[in-house]
Amino acid sequence: MRFKEFLTIFQNGVTSVKTLFEYQQLEVAERGIIAERDTSHEFMEMRRIKSEFIVNKQRYLQLINDIAALTAMVKNFPQQLAMQQEKIEAEQSATYDGSVSSMKALSAREAQLAALEEKLAHLEEEKTLRKEELLQKQAEVTALKEIMDQQYQDFLAVKQLYLSEQSKREQLLSGLTVAKSDMEQRISAEELAWFNEQKERFQGSPLAKLDANHVCSGCHTMVTPICYKRVMQGMSSTCENCGRTLFIDEES
Ligand SMILES: [Zn+2]
Repeated sequence: MRFKEFLTIFQNGVTSVKTLFEYQQLEVAERGIIAERDTSHEFMEMRRIKSEFIVNKQRYLQLINDIAALTAMVKNFPQQLAMQQEKIEAEQSATYDGSVSSMKALSAREAQLAALEEKLAHLEEEKTLRKEELLQKQAEVTALKEIMDQQYQDFLAVKQLYLSEQSKREQLLSGLTVAKSDMEQRISAEELAWFNEQKERFQGSPLAKLDANHVCSGCHTMVTPICYKRVMQGMSSTCENCGRTLFIDEES
């Protein structure tokens, strides 16, 4: 619907711009409450805790994997050490049972023995390191579990708050819905259609109130004296800055 047709409706006195403005403000409040849900402190906290929890859970699963691998490794060390020990003993008896005939053969045997002993020492060292690593990871898992338990408790507490705030918001919203439908009784279908069409252009608020300082409530700038005068005289006018339809609330 064109602006002029809209003016005709208003001038016919079906309703006032003020009523439509009040209707608009109900919608503004409605949108504010809906937006508050996703920007509320509780909602942000729930998101924060959840994302931190996810990071911890990934770390936890990684640790559980590492611990399983390390446990298997540590369990395997005694057998590896015993095998190594057996090899050394076999080498020792072969070296010193009198069958070695030359010095050259003897030194080759001894070199072989030294290599086996070095490998044994390395295995022992490896065993110690892996055991330490296992203990450290087990401690980390215990600490992490405590942190995650706490996070879960925190999440539940914040969720409780969120739900209670959310139920307050829902009450407000249903109050607004009732107020809106009451108001719709006093607004003609054409006006409502005009309003809904204009809403798109003005982020939901095509109407603006001029205060005593001549400031437009839509864009917060001061209109020219001519513009103010026109609105004052009951001639519909739009804000030169934001284009919203203006009115003056004489009762306020
Ligand atoms: Zn304006």
